[in-house]
Amino acid sequence: MKNYQNFIPLLGAKVDPVPYGVYPFSINDIEGGSVFMTKDGEETLIIAIGKDWGFSGIEFESEGRPCVAAPLTHGNAEVLRKLFPFTAPIRVLGKERTVGVGDRLGIAGPGHIRVFQEYDAFPILAQQSIRELNLTHRTYMDVLDAATFAVFREGYRKGFGADGDHLKKPEDVEMALKLGFTMITLDCSEHMHNDVEAMPDSQVDSLYTADPVLEKRYLGKVFSIGEGVSLTYDLPALKRMKLVYGEMIDFAASIYERFFEPGVYQADFEISIDETTTPTTPLQHFFVSNELKERKVVYATLAPRFCGEFQKGVDYIGDLAQFESELATHCAISRYFGYKISLHSGSDKFSVFSTFGRLTKGRFHVKTAGTNWLEAMKVVAIVDPVLYRSVHKFALSKFEEVTKYYHVTTDLSKIADVDTLTDAELVKLFDQNDARQLIHITYGPILSTKDAAGNYLFKDYLYRLWSDHEGLYSDMLFKHIGRHLACLYKNMKG
Ligand SMILES: [Zn+2]
Repeated sequence: MKNYQNFIPLLGAKVDPVPYGVYPFSINDIEGGSVFMTKDGEETLIIAIGKDWGFSGIEFESEGRPCVAAPLTHGNAEVLRKLFPFTAPIRVLGKERTVGVGDRLGIAGPGHIRVFQEYDAFPILAQQSIRELNLTHRTYMDVLDAATFAVFREGYRKGFGADGDHLKKPEDVEMALKLGFTMITLDCSEHMHNDVEAMPDSQVDSLYTADPVLEKRYLGKVFSIGEGVSLTYDLPALKRMKLVYGEMIDFAASIYERFFEPGVYQADFEISIDETTTPTTPLQHFFVSNELKERKVVYATLAPRFCGEFQKGVDYIGDLAQFESELATHCAISRYFGYKISLHSGSDKFSVFSTFGRLTKGRFHVKTAGTNWLEAMKVVAIVDPVLYRSVHKFALSKFEEVTKYYHVTTDLSKIADVDTLTDAELVKLFDQNDARQLIHITYGPILSTKDAAGNYLFKDYLYRLWSDHEGLYSDMLFKHIGRHLACLYKNMKG
């Protein structure tokens, strides 16, 4: 008899479910029966008792009641979402505080959820870019289902969002919305022409076509937007702005009209203009927002490109005083138009979080991602040093190949040789920026490379290890993401 089968007759009695492999917060009594989640060896199952709710799996009986042990498939996730609406994503971006956590591996949800049970921020548990999907061989369906299962397992009922992250094409936006994603982050980078900023005036003049309506809207005016911020435009600056952002504004407006106008899809909209090398100036920020308003585009959040560098998995690199003064103006602009500022690549940016929480007056969206992968690899370094060393060496061999996807300043020569480190020292690699970035950006090859026989080099070993040590992983995520929230909340009210 399976362990969870012994637990079924005890349902409703005051018996600790944990020794039976049952996740205690997953136990839900519904009319005519109960549904809970259990871990049976390596496999996690949904157990539905008393009635046929549509789960598919292995059927059995317990004390004359029909039961089914249902694996974590897409079909069973759909049944869960129907039966328990709290396991389906909702629109949360309009709430005061939202944090996107993402989950590259599909196993970080439980640790993330523990953080959001302690803070009033709402999580975006499913948050995935197409690039990350391609590198991890997952689908949007997998990402959403993983969030549903985690929420059910942990009994998290406050609500969570699902973000089709950094989407660039209308067909991708539509795909995510059709699957039930409740937020889209539109990456406008392919429609921005930041190269214009460095052009000589003569070249700008030759590219610019006179636009009397636009010129009338901006020239000879003072835009006093409150909080002591006044903005004025001159013709040379306006010409550049039109050339850099004109096409992006058309693009965002076309996506809005097609998918977000009332009556089309019910989802939140984020405008992302951050994926570029030049920081967004306050004048540019206001221009983009004002033009989008002219076009009647409504969005919940906007991500400008801030000064300094937001590299993956390491703290902010740049001038903190400059960041603070520019952020204050960006925040004033966002309050003037009524949306929240969104901070991207927010993993591990501890030195800017308290400033961000304070200047946004506690109304913000922060996207952290990828950090859950680093914490997962830290678990490997702690519990299986031999496996960690071989993954690390493999990562070194793939580093050059993956730098085309990521902007990082990693110096491999600064990373200690794993063969000279003791087992206990391996985990300290995760305190060193170059080693962090090495592991951070090589997740694609680490998870997808196969040997000559067609077996995954590491993927299956890694997932088994994470499953065996899920409690440790959850504790580490809770601590690490919890630190992000603690910093964001620190000076929020003052
Ligand atoms: Zn971004």
